[in-house]
Amino acid sequence: MIIDGNELEKAAMEAFHRGDRMEGLKLQEEFASQFREEYQDKDHCPCQKACRYHGNCKECVAIHRAHQEHVPNCMRPMLNKKIKLLSELTEHTISNEISAPKEILRK
Ligand code: SF4
Repeated sequence: MIIDGNELEKAAMEAFHRGDRMEGLKLQEEFASQFREEYQDKDHCPCQKACRYHGNCKECVAIHRAHQEHVPNCMRPMLNKKIKLLSELTEHTISNEISAPKEILRK
């Protein structure tokens, strides 16, 4: 089961967008049920950092909500995809004005 960009969950969102809430909820629960089953004993967290909160979404999200600097690692590819589209508006010249912090660049 692939979590990121999951087709079942995308279908759920399509249902919500066309106003079919019941179908959206049904598909969403199907996704959640598959997730529960498959990741019962498997690591679902894609974060590569050595971190004591690895896979503990409740505490990981609370930490990020608390410091408000950035989002958890697993959400970055999704956000970067959307930021990349916006960045095209200025031919990515924002890249001349920014650099990743040391924490990100470490091996
Ligand atoms: S919220 Fe945190 S712990 Fe959960 S999958 Fe994302 S990075 Fe991992």
